[in-house]
Amino acid sequence: MSEEVFDVIVVGAGNAAMCAALSAREHGASVLVLERAPEDEHGGNSTFTAGGMRFAYSGLDDLKKVMPDLTEDEIARTDFGTYTEEQFFEDMGRVTEYRTDPEMADLLVGTSLDTMVWMRSKGVKFQPIYGRQAFQVEGKFKFWGGMTVETWGGGPGLVEALHARAQQDGIDVRHNARAMSLITEDDGVKGVVAKINGRTTRLFASSVVLASGGFQANTEWRSRYLGPNWELAKVRGTRFNTGDGIRMALEAGAMPWGHWSGCHAVGWDRNAPPFGDLAVGDGFQKHSYPFGIMVNAHGERFIDEGADFRNYTYAKYGRVILNQPQQFAWQIFDQKVTHLLRDEYRIKQVTKVEAATLEELATKLDGVNAEAFLAEVAAYNAAITKDVDFNPNVKDGRRTRGLKVNKSNWANTLADGPFVAYQVTCGVTFTFGGLRVTADAQVVDTEGDPMPNLFAAGELVGGLFYFNYAGGTGLMAGAVFGRTAGRSAALSALENKPARSKVS
Ligand SMILES: Cc1cc2nc3c(=O)[nH]c(=O)nc-3n(C[C@H](O)[C@H](O)[C@H](O)COP(=O)(O)OP(=O)(O)OC[C@H]3O[C@@H](n4cnc5c(N)ncnc54)[C@H](O)[C@@H]3O)c2cc1C
Repeated sequence: MSEEVFDVIVVGAGNAAMCAALSAREHGASVLVLERAPEDEHGGNSTFTAGGMRFAYSGLDDLKKVMPDLTEDEIARTDFGTYTEEQFFEDMGRVTEYRTDPEMADLLVGTSLDTMVWMRSKGVKFQPIYGRQAFQVEGKFKFWGGMTVETWGGGPGLVEALHARAQQDGIDVRHNARAMSLITEDDGVKGVVAKINGRTTRLFASSVVLASGGFQANTEWRSRYLGPNWELAKVRGTRFNTGDGIRMALEAGAMPWGHWSGCHAVGWDRNAPPFGDLAVGDGFQKHSYPFGIMVNAHGERFIDEGADFRNYTYAKYGRVILNQPQQFAWQIFDQKVTHLLRDEYRIKQVTKVEAATLEELATKLDGVNAEAFLAEVAAYNAAITKDVDFNPNVKDGRRTRGLKVNKSNWANTLADGPFVAYQVTCGVTFTFGGLRVTADAQVVDTEGDPMPNLFAAGELVGGLFYFNYAGGTGLMAGAVFGRTAGRSAALSALENKPARSKVS
């Protein structure tokens, strides 16, 4: 066993970890980053994202702080609107059924814009998400659903920008380096035992930041904590987030916190591989269901596809699909809306059928009761209130009435062939349960005391998300709390700051 000493060790190399590492370095600490993955798979779930980020902004001036390269032409043809702190805070409450930790949500919301500007200062570039988050109506794009900005180059661009800056700042990043346990003494955490290229190594540090993701890629923990059939879900992102950081902290006495049986899960191609594929990224997702219908093996609709904008429903509908017979659904669209389908519907690796008529389509929907399906579509078509115009940019109220499961917005008849259908199952994104942290991102133990020298950020922190999630919050939360964790870890290491007071 060899031994090395650092001010701060960061476990993980995704968005939260790299924000923590850059922040710790900025505050003068020497930093070691341990990444379990080999270099060509580094960056965790963050690499798999499209880089969509949710933050509060009160108008164009705020957006220009984040995107100084916005052109006059882009400004002229876009209604960016506003997304105020009040709206963001209310969205956090609403989607989590008002269980989100208000202090954490307040920190997330209140420092989101400032953190975006900080990321920009670290070399991360942003651009508007045309197409996915704004449709062109009468020559103008209008943003909806609180998410306006994505990183240049999506998730891979984000991770590469953060790693490039880390290299520039002299941060030591080691790949094939799996943290296995924390080194602890009575007065706190002293370092990490890691397996680096298969060799066990003891690494000492004044502070440790855990940012190694949730437990979604751990089949056994999924079925243990999320419940029956979750072992059948596909993992949308990295295969490396198996809950190591959570386990290590719990073994050292940390308090479990948040929604341990909850997770973010979406409709995901039925034939996608068991873990994410970086060549496809988030392309296996199928998120245009608000413009069509979804049916199960019984040929029945089972959910209000138009309950809200995609950003506010997609993360909870994966669970609903998992609960259908044989864990699948078909999404069906007609020609009135196919031009609105997101780019992920046009990838090569897609489970898709097409038919000129509904009768023909019924024979092609693998696993579906054809007769029941045709009756379901007829009833759906007849139930649509047609006196309201269809408008994809607003919750248009064009709905069905009188059905067992009504559709609240964007209800169009399925009548204009050719019809297209896409088969989906449940893809799990990340788990909601994890560790409890203070406002300084310090891990809390089972007695309610901050654990000396131990900090955490990202997916493995519990308390922010329950039941559901608003699109673009994961990266934002990772950045906000990662930056905080890095600063706290550095200050604790360098100034030997006393631990904060006990939490209630
Ligand atoms: C397909 C997909 C699309 C998404 N799209 C978006 C989006 O557009 N916007 C958004 O906000 N969110 C999105 N998300 C969610 C987002 O990815 C996560 O919320 C966020 O990336 C989590 O960041 P993190 O740093 O906590 O975890 P990760 O980015 O997953 O990083 C965890 C890191 O820990 C490493 N690790 C694990 N175990 C160990 C160990 N024992 N030792 C050392 N290292 C370890 C991993 O290899 C990885 O580097 C998406 C997720 C997926 C899967």
